Amino acid sequence: MKSLKTNLVVANDYLARFKSDPLCHFVGGQKIASDAKQCFVNHSPVDQRPLCEVPDGGGAIVDEAAKIAHEAFLEWRDVPGKKRREILNAVADGIEERAELLAVVESLDTGQPIKFMSKAALRGAQNFRFFADKAESARDGLSTPVDNQHLNFTTRMPLGVVGVITPWNTPFMLSTWKIAPALAAGCSVVHKPAEWSPLTASLLAEIAYEAGLPSGVLNCVHGLGETTGKALTQHELVRAVAFVGESQTGSMIQQQTAAGLKRLHLELGGKNPVIIFADADWERALDAVIFMIYSLNGERCTSSSRLLVEEPIYDKFTKAVAERAERIRVGHPLDPETEVGPLIHARHYEKVKSYFAHAEKEGAHCAAGGLVAADEADNLFVRPTIFTKATNTMRIAHEEIFGPVLTAIPFVDEADAIHMANDTPYGLAGYIWTRDIGRAHRVAQAVEAGMVWINSENTRHLPTPFGGMKASGLGRDGGNYSFDFYLETKNISVGLDNHQITKLGG
Ligand code: NAD
Repeated sequence: MKSLKTNLVVANDYLARFKSDPLCHFVGGQKIASDAKQCFVNHSPVDQRPLCEVPDGGGAIVDEAAKIAHEAFLEWRDVPGKKRREILNAVADGIEERAELLAVVESLDTGQPIKFMSKAALRGAQNFRFFADKAESARDGLSTPVDNQHLNFTTRMPLGVVGVITPWNTPFMLSTWKIAPALAAGCSVVHKPAEWSPLTASLLAEIAYEAGLPSGVLNCVHGLGETTGKALTQHELVRAVAFVGESQTGSMIQQQTAAGLKRLHLELGGKNPVIIFADADWERALDAVIFMIYSLNGERCTSSSRLLVEEPIYDKFTKAVAERAERIRVGHPLDPETEVGPLIHARHYEKVKSYFAHAEKEGAHCAAGGLVAADEADNLFVRPTIFTKATNTMRIAHEEIFGPVLTAIPFVDEADAIHMANDTPYGLAGYIWTRDIGRAHRVAQAVEAGMVWINSENTRHLPTPFGGMKASGLGRDGGNYSFDFYLETKNISVGLDNHQITKLGG
């Protein structure tokens, strides 16, 4: 991996473009600038310096993009699957060719360490390749003959224009796993990336266009959630909204789209338990717990932010986590040695910081980490933190903090662990560590979560379903589950001219 110095050169070269070529919407294969009055500033998570101005497109740009996307859809849906596969594979090639730039820009924009962002950029290419290879078979259906009198067959048809709205954490990778299956299915897309990390979305739209995706099939509109995002969810030509973000926003979007009866896919927040039984493989469990809370700055929907440990090993295990947490390298996100970078934004920092006050007030003990010295102005770094002496009723135990902050709670037995694991509004992911295979399966069945990993951290396998239950979401991504969202299933029933039709008035 390249040094900090080299990465800074790439970053500064990239930023220099904004002097003459401001960040624009990308609609119908063209960059479209906004009126300067409708812009806001995107700041660096590292030192708060302005990175660029971002246009807040609002309803006007959404309307233009939706109309163009609709026109493009009418042709794209009929492009043969083989051709769609070729084009999407070419997009994957384009991502790979620019993976280094994408990783640096993502890191610069989000504060996520380059160590993880270089893999995330390549995973974006994998998402395109995976769904490209399914483009030819995505619409396959079933046929069911009935008593030699009817033949039923199902076809699957692309929905139309899909609004994709994404959050600021690992935005490039998350966007590709929504956009790639939508395009493979034959839908067109209007993408609104998060206002705090808009940069790689524009690069993706440009890469896709350069790779041969017809103009208008993928459009990117920038702006605030309450203006541009809201307009996208309510546009009459947008048939479905694929949203990733906070549960509260998901609920708002459900209300915004209700009048238009739009199809909705919501991937929302989590407060995911990792349950460590006393018989667990200690070293592997420790590595996984640490990785799943402190990687990606803890700004990760599937982070195992609630550590439930069986009482006899609670003190020893949490002490081991605390010792390792203190050794994690906090630093500049573009430094290849950095393991935890700054939080994305001053507002998010304030939110994470508020949980330190809640923890203190409610009697938890900060066993490692903490906020970086308060005298360092504009500093958004939070050291990898673990709170012990916590109970499941504390705010740090049931609210999503979304930072490198772990809450550790002891449990007495299997029933107690399951009760605590489920005692949360969320239901995204759960992690179980034990060598007792029967218990592992019992607990996995009982935990209310869309995804459970036994003796493993979150490892993503693209054909498997990804998504949450309860306040963590509606619907699943991954493999053919993605196509269930982007395609409409139609049944066609053919009478074979030999069934009795009830005669009326005859
Ligand atoms: P957020 O909900 O604040 O914003 C997400 C997106 O929604 C942004 O693009 C924003 O502009 C837009 N938005 C906001 N209000 C809107 C409205 N009224 N109408 C339309 N769009 C609107 O989320 P965030 O803070 O950017 O991201 C962090 C959250 O995302 C966390 O809760 C995290 O758990 C969740 N997340 C979930 C998954 C998952 O797969 N379940 C993955 C990543 C992140």
